[in-house]
Amino acid sequence: MSEKTPKLRAALDGIPTYKPGRPAPDGPAAYKLSSNENPYPPLPGVLETAVAAAGAFNRYPDLACTGLMAELAERFSVPLEHLATGTGSVGVAQQLVQATAGPGDEVIYAWRSFEAYPIVTQVSGATSVKVPLTSDEVHDLDAMLAAITDRTRLIFVCNPNNPTGTVVRRAELEAFLDRVPGDVLVVLDEAYREFIRDAEVPDGVDLYRDRPNVCVLRTFSKAYGLAGLRVGFAVAHEPVAAALRKTAVPFGVSQLAQEAAVASLRSEAALLERVDALVAERARVVDALAGQGWTVPESQANFVWLRLGDRTTDFAAACERAGVVVRPFAGEGVRVTIGESAAMDLFLQAAEEFRKAL
Ligand SMILES: *Cc1c(COP(=O)(O)O)cnc(C)c1O
Repeated sequence: MSEKTPKLRAALDGIPTYKPGRPAPDGPAAYKLSSNENPYPPLPGVLETAVAAAGAFNRYPDLACTGLMAELAERFSVPLEHLATGTGSVGVAQQLVQATAGPGDEVIYAWRSFEAYPIVTQVSGATSVKVPLTSDEVHDLDAMLAAITDRTRLIFVCNPNNPTGTVVRRAELEAFLDRVPGDVLVVLDEAYREFIRDAEVPDGVDLYRDRPNVCVLRTFSKAYGLAGLRVGFAVAHEPVAAALRKTAVPFGVSQLAQEAAVASLRSEAALLERVDALVAERARVVDALAGQGWTVPESQANFVWLRLGDRTTDFAAACERAGVVVRPFAGEGVRVTIGESAAMDLFLQAAEEFRKAL
């Protein structure tokens, strides 16, 4: 056998592998609150549609996602040419970086934010420019503007931000967009859009219309409960949407995913009722935590953030002993997905006991 090993791109050295939320351990009351998943099982009609589509999985899916694209165009009142689908919005985010940035180029994003950003940036060979959140855990848009250089190709704005749940509002976001050079793509990652109740948070689909350098990312994984099927989409002007069609893995979005996504859009009322229930549960959890004495940033997403610093790992372990798996970011804090009420009760009890023992 040859001593040699295949030459891999140096850009891949040191890329952290994406860490999925830990599954719940076996046990009678073990809940996974570590991946921002929707706790509700598939909606019956959506499940039936997906099961029926499974009967043809010897065939390739519709490459152009024709049915889903038509449904999205109507739902968001955008031209078909402004849409692109992908294998989850993470897949689309990776394509966007691939399409805009390579070695020597820079991608700006807030930190801490979504952990896929550093990965997709490094895979492209581009350089990450991480701009710290403010002390209120919010995007520091002024600092992000100041970080723009001739090498900047793309800026992610995660709104609401994962993992802090915080938002940027209309006036500040518009002022920011007005100042970003037109040849820099701004990606508004709105994975949690449906959970927003703050009327001052703009809808990216409104903002993109007269801004050719703005792209909006949406997903079926969170509010629509299709995380396991991998389907998301982008809304952007034609050159960007066309670049997404070029960088797509052919047949990446399965027929199951396409048909389940269409069925979900047609069952939106029932799905959004579930989102309302999760938003109500979010308020209950935030109030209870505040009552226990915790400082919780206002969350507009389906999770809450506790900045625990050095106590992060201990807190996560205490939650796990209580039957809930949360997402620790060692040395920083813990993100807790809003799930079933029974799970949140276990979490709140663990949080209260932890706090009393401090
Ligand atoms: C969950 C999430 C996504 C969506 O991921 P999918 O690939 O669509 O499942 C995108 N952006 C952020 C910030 C997220 O938290």
